[in-house]
Amino acid sequence: MGDTQGNNNADSMDGQVDERMTAVLGDITTLDVDAIVNAANSSLLGGGGVDGAIHRAAGPELLAECRAIGGCPTGEARVTRGYRLPARLVIHTVGPVWRGGRKGEDEALANCYRNSLALAAQHGAHTVAFPAISTGVYGFPLERATAIAVRETRAYLRDHPEIERVMFACFGAHAHNVYQAELGRVARQDV
Ligand code: ADP
Repeated sequence: MGDTQGNNNADSMDGQVDERMTAVLGDITTLDVDAIVNAANSSLLGGGGVDGAIHRAAGPELLAECRAIGGCPTGEARVTRGYRLPARLVIHTVGPVWRGGRKGEDEALANCYRNSLALAAQHGAHTVAFPAISTGVYGFPLERATAIAVRETRAYLRDHPEIERVMFACFGAHAHNVYQAELGRVARQDV
């Protein structure tokens, strides 16, 4: 009975963590959260994909603030204001370019999630939205990236109740399906 009780407690705590992560279908720039994460390049001077969409939606003041920061290494994160976005903050993180999987890509991507969440928390964010970092132009396989995104976020949320909710903004039905499957899979795990 003691063991059963213990497992139930662990399950309900994990359940709380899992309920704080959701996959949402659509454009990250529209989300009403405290902080959105940008999959930036190391110059922080804007680019295509989600980076371009965030800069267009935020307005030119975002580029000016990014220019003053002067760049960001792969795996690290930097914060700016959100300007015309609903989000108060933009966390710019630089994902790894996929080079076959043996060049530290997994660890660099994990660092993006950890460092982004830590920076968001440090700036008082309670709600954070992520795009699928590195899975566009940078070529990281989506399933593998999703497993890392969910694992790292889940680990962070367990230790940091101040981050109440994380949304994974999925740009397309396929990404949404992949994220939902992974979130379902981890929610069913015992550990
Ligand atoms: P990276 O260079 O890190 O691969 P990309 O912007 O090319 O960055 O792609 C990262 C992910 O963001 C891709 O899965 C892409 O489909 C997605 N994406 C592109 N535009 C948006 C958007 N407006 N909102 C959310 N996700 C987006």
